[in-house]
Amino acid sequence: MALKFRGVDFIEFDSLLSEDERLVRDNTRKWVEENVIPIIEQCNREGRFPRELVQPMGELGFYGANLKGYGCAEMSNVEYGLVMQELERGDSGLRSFVSVQSALCMYPIYAFGTDEQKQKFLPGMQKGEILGCFGLTEPMFGSNPSGMRTRAKKDGNEYVLNGEKMWITSGSIANIAVVWAKVEDEDDRIRGFIVETDRPGFKADDVHGKWSLRASVTSGFSMSDVRVPASDLLPGSGGLKSPLMCLNQARYGIAWGGIGAAMACYDTALQYAQLRKQFHDKPIASHQLIQEKLVWMISEITKAQLLALQVGRLKDAGKVQHYHISLAKRNNIWMALETARMARDILGANGIADDYPIMRHMMNLESVKTYEGTHDIHALIIGSQITGVDAF
Ligand SMILES: Cc1cc2nc3c(=O)[nH]c(=O)nc-3n(C[C@H](O)[C@H](O)[C@H](O)COP(=O)(O)OP(=O)(O)OC[C@H]3O[C@@H](n4cnc5c(N)ncnc54)[C@H](O)[C@@H]3O)c2cc1C
Repeated sequence: MALKFRGVDFIEFDSLLSEDERLVRDNTRKWVEENVIPIIEQCNREGRFPRELVQPMGELGFYGANLKGYGCAEMSNVEYGLVMQELERGDSGLRSFVSVQSALCMYPIYAFGTDEQKQKFLPGMQKGEILGCFGLTEPMFGSNPSGMRTRAKKDGNEYVLNGEKMWITSGSIANIAVVWAKVEDEDDRIRGFIVETDRPGFKADDVHGKWSLRASVTSGFSMSDVRVPASDLLPGSGGLKSPLMCLNQARYGIAWGGIGAAMACYDTALQYAQLRKQFHDKPIASHQLIQEKLVWMISEITKAQLLALQVGRLKDAGKVQHYHISLAKRNNIWMALETARMARDILGANGIADDYPIMRHMMNLESVKTYEGTHDIHALIIGSQITGVDAF
């Protein structure tokens, strides 16, 4: 039974959006409907990243969409968020790819790079001709990246990099990696480097056996005496604050993305409940327990929309704080995962099959809950802000 997505808007949320914002959302939704939905279950089954969508997404202006110049679409942050929502309605893996390319690779070059670095990489990245990955996490350091062991050492006009990164989205398909390393000659200060992945000593291997984000490439990479010219250091980067600034960009998009995944699950469950009959030939939607679940979902999706929009408006006004973004990422991904679990339940046995998108979203969201700061780490970020006491 193929169910077509109908959009989710319970309180005239659309009336809070400008015409341009609705247009961007609607165009992305249509593109996802025509290009992602028909292939995504098969990609998920095969564990295949839909590489054929990379260039079209560049043509649509998805990469670096909220950056200025270099061919970027110069969208507002709310428009960019709505693109992320629609992409994740398709698949969290696809949205992850775009987040990494945009927020974790283009943004650090844009924010910390020289004019030469920007000219060399950003136009090609915007088109999807140069693919990026972001290497912060290591096998022994996830939530606490300040412990990282990756080191860079100056040697004449070059830096020599050694270390290992793990759980890196797009690691093995990337042309460049934005690598975070402690610089030995600078008292172990964390700095960012642009590392071309075909340099001798750089080796990436994919993580296999994932039950989540199967349509996204996840890799580990090692660097063994990888030499990069000193001009590949991102000069504006310095300290852990720099990668955290990138993560804030990505987390903002993720907060919107979760709404998309939740919308897909809710709308599927609602349509299914209206069609599926059990007991006295009545649709299961007529049972109070089913209605209560659907009401929970629409309530939480609606609250999440308002939260994301307000954070987006703050970001557009230059007023957003990292703890605002933590609140939105934490709440919206929790909400999406709970929605997916309830929707799976409403579909009964059908809920576990990939004739419907729910179980795929549910499994994907388990990763989204963990990456870009786990649910609990965001609780500690918000807790620190409201109490004034760090509890890490
Ligand atoms: C599919 C996928 C893609 C990813 N892509 C990237 C990428 O592109 N680039 C990149 O750099 N990283 C990436 N990551 C890594 C991700 O950011 C980390 O997994 C995440 O930061 C958590 O680190 P960890 O897995 O080492 O968990 P840990 O840090 O070991 O945490 C394990 C558990 O302990 C809890 N915990 C840790 N510290 C505390 C504390 N002080 N108090 C209370 N609880 C605590 C956590 O909340 C969590 O529940 C990706 C991960 C996944 C799964």
